[in-house]
Amino acid sequence: MKTRTLGHPLFTPGWGQVVLLILMVLGLGCQTAEDGLDEHWPAEQLQDSNSTPTWEEAVAMAQRLADQDHRVSLHRLGKSDIGRPIHALVLLAEEDRSRDEEGAHAVQNRLETQGGGKVTVLVNNAIHPGEPCGVNASFALIQDWLALPDGPQNPLNAANWVFIPQYNVGGASRRNCCTRANQNGPESYGFRGNAANLDLNRDFVKMDSRNAEVFVDLFHAVNPDVFVDTHTSNGADYPYTMTLITTQPDKAGPVMGPFLREVVEPALYQGMAQEGWPMVPYVYSKGETPEAGVVGFLETPRYSTGFTTLWGTLGFTTEAHMLKPFADRVKATKSFLQVLSDWLLSSGPEVLSMRKEEARRVADARELEVRWTLAQDQRDSVDFTGYASQRMWSAVTQGTRLRYDTSQTWTKRIPFDNRYVPSATERVPTFWVLPQAWRRAVARLQANGVRMTPLPRDTVMLLEVSRIESFQSAKKPYEGHHPLTIDSVSRSVQPVQLYRGDWQIPSGQNARRYLAEVLSPKAHDALLVWNFFDSALQQKEHFSGYVFEDTAEDLLQGDEALRMRYAAAQTVHPEWKDNPRLALRWLYEASPHYEATDNRYPVYASP
Ligand SMILES: [Zn+2]
Repeated sequence: MKTRTLGHPLFTPGWGQVVLLILMVLGLGCQTAEDGLDEHWPAEQLQDSNSTPTWEEAVAMAQRLADQDHRVSLHRLGKSDIGRPIHALVLLAEEDRSRDEEGAHAVQNRLETQGGGKVTVLVNNAIHPGEPCGVNASFALIQDWLALPDGPQNPLNAANWVFIPQYNVGGASRRNCCTRANQNGPESYGFRGNAANLDLNRDFVKMDSRNAEVFVDLFHAVNPDVFVDTHTSNGADYPYTMTLITTQPDKAGPVMGPFLREVVEPALYQGMAQEGWPMVPYVYSKGETPEAGVVGFLETPRYSTGFTTLWGTLGFTTEAHMLKPFADRVKATKSFLQVLSDWLLSSGPEVLSMRKEEARRVADARELEVRWTLAQDQRDSVDFTGYASQRMWSAVTQGTRLRYDTSQTWTKRIPFDNRYVPSATERVPTFWVLPQAWRRAVARLQANGVRMTPLPRDTVMLLEVSRIESFQSAKKPYEGHHPLTIDSVSRSVQPVQLYRGDWQIPSGQNARRYLAEVLSPKAHDALLVWNFFDSALQQKEHFSGYVFEDTAEDLLQGDEALRMRYAAAQTVHPEWKDNPRLALRWLYEASPHYEATDNRYPVYASP
């Protein structure tokens, strides 16, 4: 497959058509005759071909839509990790009057002035550019919608739609034929990792990529009520073309959770069945095949929908099945968005009031759950049609292999383990204090619009301090980090020295749940877990035993209480007899020589 690259983003205001013309002359831009594609990518081609647009083609197509119909506006957001911009395509019932194309604030202005009172949907495509069904589906859907007559059934009268045509611009530009080894088309596509080889769908809390900065900026500008991230599955074979990860309802909480389970999911599943694309929950198989059941996916805030749930947004990940023809995957993804739109025609107001209720719940919560685990004693089940499978001799390995027989199906109810229970709950303090020294963490919070005030002067405050008693770090890098597993945390109230400019962060703000989950050391995707505070977890000063022996002797002689505590400790630690260094270590830690900040988590809470 041809790889096309351009030196830099050429699409600046007013340049769109000129640049397009130059690119076409140079043979670099739109599809060429040898691709067998029409240069305008009409809806049929987007849906019926085995091709997906390159980044350049997607931008050109988006620009053309915005030029042709002013209900569409194309906005250039910040830069991706390869320097080219990420775009947002906004589709509203009213024509864009300002034609301001620069930045997320232009999107926000347009939504605020022209989209008021309606539900807003954000659709993210090609976070994994090898899974581009949503790119084709979104462009085809927008073309369909723009051709519809105005009236109460027009989707734009029910909702504001914001599309990110291609999010992982760097990955999209690594065009190749084959890295999706098990996937049935398209003929060429981008690569999963971004320019820094990051999986952007693990990057929403740690924000290592510029893409994540752009996303977070857009997300807060749009403040979507519904979010959809489009993907293609991996894993088992089965007849369904579309599967769905709804943000985990128990993790979503007591307002969003039941709404998702009882109102939204039945409508979406029923709608998809009526459209001829019966859908099942994402097949995360318990065993080798789906027959043994599937497990509900817990998408913590590192994932897009886990992140959007922190802000009360209803999040969905569509996972079209990798072995179905690309054209079918595109159609099923498009149908999902259409079904969602149809549902919003009647239920948009319900979504808006649910979201207000969720905001009230979080604002009033004295405690928030920050960690969940699969329930052992509760299970759901789901009707499922699967392919017969068998294990047979492998000519390749001479061992056994799995083979699905797609001519034979079975239908039954299979276990669906999708009940999660909280495994850690945190008190929400009135405020947190984050010293300015931890500026990488501060920057993440600021990127999310967190309100914080600098302390006006140096001070000592009595605050709740967490000590990380026990933790482990990953031996191998994972997404650019060595994430920590926090095993135990102790808490005490202590005086803490703070300085002018350290940050006081009130919990009474929109970011309340976000703050609880990125600042709690017990949360799945806390900034602590992602190594933002690693230097706090290393002791800086040590002692030499032969010197400290004499110091310890003096200490014990002068402090009766210490003598008694030491004697008690000796009785519970008989192993000290064989390892006197451990006894000395205990005395060192009990002495004023030991640094009080060892393993002290440097985010403090009001007591
Ligand atoms: Zn994916």
